[in-house]
Amino acid sequence: MPLDEYRKKRDFTRSPEPTGETVPETDAAKPRFFCVQKHLASHLHYDLRLEHDGVLLSWAVPKGPSLDSRDKRLAMQTEDHPIEYGQFEGVIPDGYGAGVVMLWDIGTWTPQSPDIDASLRKGDFKFTLDGYKLKGSWVLVRTKGYGDSSKPSWLLIKHKDEWAGPIDITEFAPHSVKTPGADFADILASDTPDLWKNNPPAKTGDTGKLFQRIIATAIELRETNHSDPPTRLMSAEAAARKLDALEAPARTKAATKRATKTSSTTKTPATKTKTTKKTGASR
Ligand code: MN
Repeated sequence: MPLDEYRKKRDFTRSPEPTGETVPETDAAKPRFFCVQKHLASHLHYDLRLEHDGVLLSWAVPKGPSLDSRDKRLAMQTEDHPIEYGQFEGVIPDGYGAGVVMLWDIGTWTPQSPDIDASLRKGDFKFTLDGYKLKGSWVLVRTKGYGDSSKPSWLLIKHKDEWAGPIDITEFAPHSVKTPGADFADILASDTPDLWKNNPPAKTGDTGKLFQRIIATAIELRETNHSDPPTRLMSAEAAARKLDALEAPARTKAATKRATKTSSTTKTPATKTKTTKKTGASR
């Protein structure tokens, strides 16, 4: 069974990840699905997944994709994932892959040669992406240097085309496409913010620091909002409303009070920027 390895690694009574029981029919004429999930686990990485033959072929890309055609990004092939995994965004509380999964890009893909399996066997797999963030022509080239035959290593490279350029797309567009604007802290805040307060999936190094920051932000978001998700998006709207109130000509005591509150709310994006920078630095 194609998803045996996927299922063996996970305890679905403890993880919200899909079991992959329903395998949809693949229609050759239908555009194929692709996604990239930004996954903060023991290490931050980006999971590239391409629909093929009823599953998602998967590669873990530690540094994430690059639009710069001079970059060769290590992409470690991982177990095939169920199709419905491509919609997953959330918190894996413990076990395999424990951490936060963000749906970072989503769209369709097209192989550049019709025989996908032959391209994969050859280790030279060219394809075109049409996502929100990733577009145009790409190639995965299998390397001899790392990994074994069951988990080969590849290099993910952007071909030179109109969608290539010297932009660090992971820094430029760091947030979720499923919950627009959401970062890891928002996703954790919408789940169980204090889940890892004393025992995060990574405790040391840059990833440990990143977890600490995200957990603290998530707890703060939940406490300041006293509400269910969306958290930060809602607080941005609230901040805008408060700013509108400030522009009213008659400034009452209440408005001054709101102003104080607003200044603390508007600090939130700064925290977010820091978190994002940290994300970049930890790679
Ligand atoms: Mn992963």
